[in-house]
Formats: sequence, structure tokens, C-alpha cells
Amino acid sequence: MRKIVADLHAELVRYDLVVWTAGNVSGRIPGEDLFVIKPSGVSYDELTPENMVVCDLDGNLVEGEHAPSSDTAAHAYVYRNMPDVGGVVHTHSTYASAWAARGEPIPCVLTAMADEFGGEIPLGPFALIGDDSIGQGIVETLKGHRSKAVLMQNHGVFSIGKDPKAAVKAAVMCEDVARTVHVARQLGTPLPIAQDDIDRLYDRYQNVYGQRSPR
Ligand SMILES: [Zn+2]
Repeated sequence: MRKIVADLHAELVRYDLVVWTAGNVSGRIPGEDLFVIKPSGVSYDELTPENMVVCDLDGNLVEGEHAPSSDTAAHAYVYRNMPDVGGVVHTHSTYASAWAARGEPIPCVLTAMADEFGGEIPLGPFALIGDDSIGQGIVETLKGHRSKAVLMQNHGVFSIGKDPKAAVKAAVMCEDVARTVHVARQLGTPLPIAQDDIDRLYDRYQNVYGQRSPR
């Protein structure tokens, strides 16, 4: 898991979701009440499996020479309250954060959004770092929602997945659709997709699309 989480940070850089050290990936260690997260303030090209940090689900450091990411409390809150989540990602990616700065959810006006998010990408509350407010805002917004990404107002994106790779994919797709819908807005009014069609697209993508695993 240390290697998986260390390597996935390169995807944040590759897809232009982060600057400096402002973004992080974490992954739950299967079968344990522990997760691996990025060390605080270490640049992306210096991340290795060895300098990843292991924390318990209260966000306490269990193993590692560095302090954990300053977003650790939010990641820990999500793992404590959403047992099916195996990966969490946080970024300040530009277009998604621009929607967050305006306090507006991204409306579902692209079939790719219906596929991946099953509807709009919702807006979470304004919350300050330092206690459980960010984690609570993420969980309250995403529990029972199809979307695997939330725009935290005035802040940025948190995404979740069954594993860290799925959470990174949600962060990448979130920025992609944030950008396209933003551009569409500049040109006019994007057309909504009927709820029935959103449901059909979501169902197909989640259940049929892609390579089947061998039986
Ligand atoms: Zn942040």
C-alpha cells in the first residue's frame, strides 16, 4: 500500500491537478484500522514507499519518520465513517476549485458525468482545517450520493473510491468535467440531461462497461 499510494501521487502531477505540495492521496490497509498517506510538505518527486506515513483511523501517526499530511484528519474521518471507502484524494485542481470558489455544484450536462458520477458533483460546506469539520462535510455530502467527488466550498476537491486508484480516477474525471462544463458556460447555457437518461448511463457504466473479470 505504501508503494501504491506513493506511485499514485505521480498521477496527480501527470494530470495537472496539483502545484507545490498541495494535494494528497491515501489508501486504507485492507483488514486493518490503518491507512497510508502522503507525508506533509514533501515534494512529489521525492515521494517513495519508505517515506509514506501510516496512521490509525483517528489520524494518529503509527509508523513513519515524517509528519502526516495536514489533511490527515479529514482522510481519517472519511475512513472511520465510510467503511467501504478504501482510498481518498484531495486536490485544489483549478477548474473544480473555481466551481467550489463560486459555491456551485457542477450540473450533470455531459454523458461522461452521468457515467462516472451519476449526476451532479455536489457542493460541500465551507469548513476550516484543524478539527473534524472538513471530514464531516465530506461524509455528510457523499453518504448516499452517487458522486465519488465533492467540491468543498471555497477550497477544493475530495474524492473517494473503493481503493486509492479509483479515488484518483474520480479526482481526474472531476477536473476534466469541471473544465468542460466551465467552457460550455462561457459559450451559452449547457443543456440538462433527463434524469431517466442519467440513470441509464450510470447503470450501464457501473455495471457493464469495461473488461469483465474472468469467471
Ligand atoms: Zn486543501
